[in-house]
Amino acid sequence: MQTPNENYELVIIGGGPIGIACALEAEKKGISYVIIEKGCLVNSLYHYPTNMTFFSTSEKLELDNIPFISNNPKPGKREALEYYRRITVANKINIHLFEKVTGVEAGKKFGHVVKTTKSIYHTSKVIVATGFYDIPNYLGIPGEDLPKVSHYYNDPHYYATQKTIVVGASNSAVDAALEIYRKGGDVTMIIRKPEIGERVKYWVRPDIVNRIEEGSIKAYFNASLKEIKSKEVVIETDKGDVTIENDFALLLTGYRPNFGFLQSIGIDLSDDGRKIPEYDPETMETNIPGIYLAGVICGGTETHKWFIENSRVHAKLIIDDIGK
Ligand SMILES: Cc1cc2nc3c(=O)[nH]c(=O)nc-3n(C[C@H](O)[C@H](O)[C@H](O)COP(=O)(O)OP(=O)(O)OC[C@H]3O[C@@H](n4cnc5c(N)ncnc54)[C@H](O)[C@@H]3O)c2cc1C
Repeated sequence: MQTPNENYELVIIGGGPIGIACALEAEKKGISYVIIEKGCLVNSLYHYPTNMTFFSTSEKLELDNIPFISNNPKPGKREALEYYRRITVANKINIHLFEKVTGVEAGKKFGHVVKTTKSIYHTSKVIVATGFYDIPNYLGIPGEDLPKVSHYYNDPHYYATQKTIVVGASNSAVDAALEIYRKGGDVTMIIRKPEIGERVKYWVRPDIVNRIEEGSIKAYFNASLKEIKSKEVVIETDKGDVTIENDFALLLTGYRPNFGFLQSIGIDLSDDGRKIPEYDPETMETNIPGIYLAGVICGGTETHKWFIENSRVHAKLIIDDIGK
């Protein structure tokens, strides 16, 4: 069967909140567009932990001033999925789900070609809004590929009564450790630094600090995971290696954007280790004319820099530039 060819003025890669924000702006300006999303709608959010609460209040997650009504000031995952789904359906956003962009061939000035698992698109503008949640920061240690190991956390019930290690000390790791402990898991945290991460939500921090101090959750500080075996793990501490019994390992050490994808398009990355993609902060256009970046991807390895709250403005900057 022949691969279909489609033409749009704009192709948006990634159907996360920021990709949707770009589509809403494009609609207003009458720019023909399509969003291509490799998973379900707001795929990253869909894979966040079941009981997560956003650190932002709901109005800070709003797109295009469309009211986000939540039961509490800070919404949960279900409410966010409902909100972004309603916006997409009510505004008839043109989005192709479960279709992965496999490559972008950048034309010299105009005429980019976007290749996907289902089609080929010809377009003059491309927005890359692919986020950072697909690729974990792997530890690269023996046993990391065992079936009891996960780099994503979903629900605490699974770990009830089980000896579970949580590696990391940021929000994701702390939330997982507390939830699993409260659902009857036997939790040990392994933390590289001498204390819990400084960016942990201010209302959660005292909870985890107190649980560790009272011994309800065990923690090794200044420590790193050295090896994962089927029934135990080896932890490197400043007093030497320690081996403890273990059933499950949650390695919640963060995620990174797909730098290989950006480089394959020809987008330059900073060479200072942060791999920040090159873009004009006033228009979000990259070093390739007609190719823009939006959302959390703009931070390179500094994935905490951009989030929904402060990157939703990218949509207007880009569409204003495209519509000039
Ligand atoms: C647990 C957690 C809690 C958070 N809480 C908050 C908060 O309270 N407030 C806040 O502002 N931010 C929060 N964030 C951050 C926020 O969720 C992200 O910044 C936000 O998702 C960024 O939106 P985005 O559209 O840039 O990227 P994403 O939401 O990651 O969307 C990118 C999309 O691109 C798709 N994609 C990737 N590659 C391809 C490809 N090759 N082809 C097609 N599609 C592709 C992905 O499937 C994904 O759906 C939180 C993050 C986490 C992990």
